[in-house]
Amino acid sequence: MIVALVGNQNSGKTTLFNQLTGSNQHVGNFPGVTVDRKEGLIRHQKDITVVDLPGIYSLAPYSKEEEVARDFLVKGNVDGVINIVDASNIERNLYLSMQLIELHVPMVIALNMMDEVRANGGTVKIDEISKSLGVPVVPISASKNEGVDELIDVVKKTVAARKKPENTDYCRGGVHRTVHSIAHLVEDHAERIGVPARFVATKLVEGDQPIADALQLSENETDMIDHAIREMEQEIGTDRKAAITDMRYSFIEEVVCQTVIKPKSDKSRDRSQRIDALLTHRILAMPIFLLIMASVFWLTFGVIGSFLSDFLGGLIDNFSDAAFDFLTGLSVNATVVDLVVNGVLAGIGSVMSFIPTILVLFFFLSLLEDSGYMARVAFVMDKLLRKIGLSGRSFVPMLIGFGCTVPAIMSTRTLSSERDRIMTIFLVPFMSCTAKLPIYGVFSMAFFPRHAGLVMVSLYLLGMLLAIMTGLIMKSSIFKGKPVPFVMELPNYRLPSFKSVVMLLWDKAKDFVTRAFTIIFIASLVIWFLQTFDLRMNLVADPSGSMLASIAQFIAPIFTPLGFGNWQSVTALLTGFMAKEAVVSTFAVLTGTGMSGLSAALQQLFTPASAYAFLVFTLLYTPCVAAVAAIRRELNSRWLAIFAVIYQTSFAWVMSFVVYLTGQLFI
Ligand code: GDP
Ligand code: MG
Repeated sequence: MIVALVGNQNSGKTTLFNQLTGSNQHVGNFPGVTVDRKEGLIRHQKDITVVDLPGIYSLAPYSKEEEVARDFLVKGNVDGVINIVDASNIERNLYLSMQLIELHVPMVIALNMMDEVRANGGTVKIDEISKSLGVPVVPISASKNEGVDELIDVVKKTVAARKKPENTDYCRGGVHRTVHSIAHLVEDHAERIGVPARFVATKLVEGDQPIADALQLSENETDMIDHAIREMEQEIGTDRKAAITDMRYSFIEEVVCQTVIKPKSDKSRDRSQRIDALLTHRILAMPIFLLIMASVFWLTFGVIGSFLSDFLGGLIDNFSDAAFDFLTGLSVNATVVDLVVNGVLAGIGSVMSFIPTILVLFFFLSLLEDSGYMARVAFVMDKLLRKIGLSGRSFVPMLIGFGCTVPAIMSTRTLSSERDRIMTIFLVPFMSCTAKLPIYGVFSMAFFPRHAGLVMVSLYLLGMLLAIMTGLIMKSSIFKGKPVPFVMELPNYRLPSFKSVVMLLWDKAKDFVTRAFTIIFIASLVIWFLQTFDLRMNLVADPSGSMLASIAQFIAPIFTPLGFGNWQSVTALLTGFMAKEAVVSTFAVLTGTGMSGLSAALQQLFTPASAYAFLVFTLLYTPCVAAVAAIRRELNSRWLAIFAVIYQTSFAWVMSFVVYLTGQLFI
């Protein structure tokens, strides 16, 4: 049995999904976090699969994710629906429920956030609201795991008995007559596509084109329907969309009025408003945001992260020294020892030592996100983003982009206009993803040890600056026009849940370690092999005679104007296309040193000016393979993906050239 979890954004779907299935998907106090469909089996009920759909407000396809969610429901893939409703915001949430009821599939309403409602002194008369809506209603608190077992019980019974909503007929007056006459008219068409006639009828009245197309109505039928709708518009004096909206809301109001006792005051909302008076203050909002981000970066790179990373780097070096002594002690063949110590251990170690820094960064970002602050920043950013032709919505993917470009590009599905989507996808790679962190770290420690933090921040800022430039270019050329208006509801501030933060960090750490032991491991082996043998498979005394050097020397001249026309850099950049962390591991393998020796080895290859030019180049050049694949998938176009690669790489070359020239004058 397949049960879909459907609800508004930020209503607690993912929290409930995790409780139901025992998995640990990322929860965020931030609308638009879940974009991919997630599936899982209900705990101890191995025959029910739950699907966590993206948050939606309506079954009208306004954005890509609403389209995805609706298609999934309408195409009849589900045996039942758990409709999660945020009880502290019940009217708006029930708007979606009304449409789900019309779909006429077995359905249970999970009334979530009941803990908050109760704490504020409100109640909901569960039996009565259930009777009025004609579907079972179960009060729960997903985050406190209250009522979840009852919910599972009720869902099981409802789905097994195929109990459908009892009353779908909640329309009145003129709308009532129109909906019913259209329902009769399209009954056979609706039956053919397997969707209830009543649902189809309201959608037609709303003017839903995809549904109308799917029905394949004859010209006569379309005329009759249009006629009926025009009659209705005249009779009640509002347009078709408003008529349906009014009808749903007046029914909801009636139900809520009889069954919900609203709290006199909403403590968490009041508190949020007080906090917002400061954090979204007209003038102070921006400085506060910059201050917060500056402290996050300072703590991450300056205080905690770099200290921990240095410490771990030292441990890894000791380990690899010990491994060297151990293997040499056993008189293992020198080439094999070299493979293990200078190939594998150096490669993986150089990347692994950055785990602490990355986790610290994610820790702060997840605090900001879970508390609800980032949703505010999206609002503050809206005004600025509008200047480059985007809306505050695009801030979400860009923020995720500081973690990893791939999920960031996927999250653009929350954007409702195709224009905003394409633009955002092109801008996301300019946000420095965490895989680039090791590169920044190693180079700034080697060349700018006293200003390492400053160099890091300058790279992050440069990326954003160039994103803005790209946005301006696109806005004034291919993407004229306006971004869609920005509506996103502000969630109440919440204390981030300890569990959810720990889960996120655990996930990130696991992900990073996995990459180190797969992609980086293989890349290190290949690099070691290519630089240890020459084209005739003889061991080389000096890597500059290796086959790697002979191949890379062809490409190297392209980078001579940028100050790093050596074969080592070329190799590092090439492997960086596989995964950005590989840039550092490649240098580690090529120079055959641990973290401590890496600085000295790099100083042989770069001057401070060319090192900074190299950093700028790695910041900007092509996104990694996984990200390019994501771009291709999301834009559904190979050419746009190739264009993105070429655009970024040429941009990188030019910027890096400029930086190198200027750098030579000053450093
Ligand atoms: P989604 O966007 O619908 O997937 O919602 P999430 O599961 O990400 O949750 C949104 C926010 O609501 C998070 O900050 C959760 O911690 C919080 N939340 C979820 N369920 C409850 C609940 O029952 N009570 C309270 N007080 N907060 C909850
Ligand atoms: Mg979610």
